[in-house]
Amino acid sequence: MMKATISAQDLRHSYGEGALKTEILHGLDFQINAGEVTLLVGPSGSGKSTLLTLVGALRSVQTGSLKVLGTELNGTSEQARTELRRRIGFIFQSHNLVPSLTVLQNVTLLLQLKDLSPAEREEKAKELLEAVGLSHRLQNYPEELSGGQRQRVAIARALAPEPELILADEPTASLDSKSGQDVVEILGRLSREKGSSVLLVTHDLRLLKDADTIWEIDDGKVRLNNEYAGH
Ligand code: ADP
Repeated sequence: MMKATISAQDLRHSYGEGALKTEILHGLDFQINAGEVTLLVGPSGSGKSTLLTLVGALRSVQTGSLKVLGTELNGTSEQARTELRRRIGFIFQSHNLVPSLTVLQNVTLLLQLKDLSPAEREEKAKELLEAVGLSHRLQNYPEELSGGQRQRVAIARALAPEPELILADEPTASLDSKSGQDVVEILGRLSREKGSSVLLVTHDLRLLKDADTIWEIDDGKVRLNNEYAGH
């Protein structure tokens, strides 16, 4: 059996209290294998972001089991959640680059936690920026880049500390079709090279062919859909 990066058993989540309480995840069971690119698709409001924030230890698990990188998140301490978050790379729709730092500085920023000399950090950041096709933009500021270029900086930054898991929430939402496909292709290629797993939330159906596995979420349930994957 393949090693699971994420596994959920009867995972439920509700918002609101008392009479207003509404369950939006109705007992999810799924597993995401190490080293794979997994897409999570589903209509707006189906609970994709909620699930991603649960997996990213950004929100407490209420009911059921959710194991991420070997840590059971139901009932875990805030400290354990913080430690887990350090092992995860996050890429969001709004790429959250630091506007006052150059492209190169934005990527070296996340390498500060690693035991590297400043020269080694810079070397590593440059390698990643080259891999995402931005070696000619090292000294530019985020506002001088296109949406697709910024998202590629965000990918380089998320991959820099070599996280075991990368979580991406609609990373192509603000991009045209070509840039969106480039971004996912780069993400897939680099994560495969580094052996990281990727969980990417999207409703962009053009991305399906870049995935190893596709989970569909609807009516608070997930099911496997491999009709499109791996082509
Ligand atoms: P998706 O990412 O698939 O669009 P979300 O996880 O954002 O779905 O939302 C799932 C459902 O939960 C939606 O009906 C949404 O309105 C509701 N919801 C999301 N966040 C909250 C919140 N903080 N409080 C109450 N309801 C929420």
